[in-house]
Amino acid sequence: MCAAVLVVGSANADLVVPVDRRPAGGETVLGGDTVLSPGGKGANTAVAAGRLGADVALLGAVGSDPYGALLRDSLAGAGVSTTFLRVVDRPTGIAYITVTPDGENSILVSPGANSALTPADITSEALAGAAVVVLSLEVPLPTVEHAVRRAAAAGVTVVLNLSPAARLSASTLAAVDVLLVNEHEAAYLLRSDDADPRELLDLGPRAAVVTLGAKGAVVVDADGVTEVASPAVEAVDTTGAGDAFAGALAAALSEGTALVTAARRAVKVAAISVTRHGAQPSYPSSDELE
Ligand code: ADP
Repeated sequence: MCAAVLVVGSANADLVVPVDRRPAGGETVLGGDTVLSPGGKGANTAVAAGRLGADVALLGAVGSDPYGALLRDSLAGAGVSTTFLRVVDRPTGIAYITVTPDGENSILVSPGANSALTPADITSEALAGAAVVVLSLEVPLPTVEHAVRRAAAAGVTVVLNLSPAARLSASTLAAVDVLLVNEHEAAYLLRSDDADPRELLDLGPRAAVVTLGAKGAVVVDADGVTEVASPAVEAVDTTGAGDAFAGALAAALSEGTALVTAARRAVKVAAISVTRHGAQPSYPSSDELE
């Protein structure tokens, strides 16, 4: 069993509680009702690609608990293969999210089962037949670095969504085809808020895509810098927008679409996702893109 798009990354249950304000140390605050939804950057990316009709699998880990079952159901509902989603003896990862009336999130992630994903999980069987491997960083960095190098050695296109931002080895970044970051992650990598995005290529990847929120994205490759504008939309919830972009980009690349064209499609998909609530529930199907 193999898939054209292999996502290597996290699967978390998102527990979202509206609060008037966050508790200080030692304090108890009453919030509103908890909303439980499937999340995690890896699962979100896989669901986004699956909704668009891509042949996609998630390589990750969940616990043998109800949250693991919730994630599996959501992935299956989007047509994502869970053949490489391992069940481990740790609790499924959970993101505890509080949202204040101004819309600001604060998030505590307990990685749980995601921490159990090891380099040994990146098997030849999982990579066989993949056109694109897309990775994000809510799983252990040695596993990500190993997966990047193995995929590159196998001739698979590697898309690395460097989120949440972390410093990876130069040899890993040199094996990346497309480095995908938002503005904050780009600033972290380049140690400057106003650096030229072309400098991302000096870190080693063949190409880079920087997402710019409502402004869309910019693609940097050997041909230069291409701005990809976002359609104007009324944003109601940007949760998981970057993951929608990653899934849509990987889905398009797996069909042999050129990077700038793939980024144009990803911007459309992410723009639709911000007009609806939630992460995975907000992702469009390919029919909606027409
Ligand atoms: P992240 O979600 O990782 O912080 P961004 O904020 O850059 O990353 O958003 C990712 C993508 O989602 C953008 O490139 C864009 O396509 C889309 N997006 C995000 N916010 C908006 C918005 N307010 N209006 C339209 N598109 C948006």
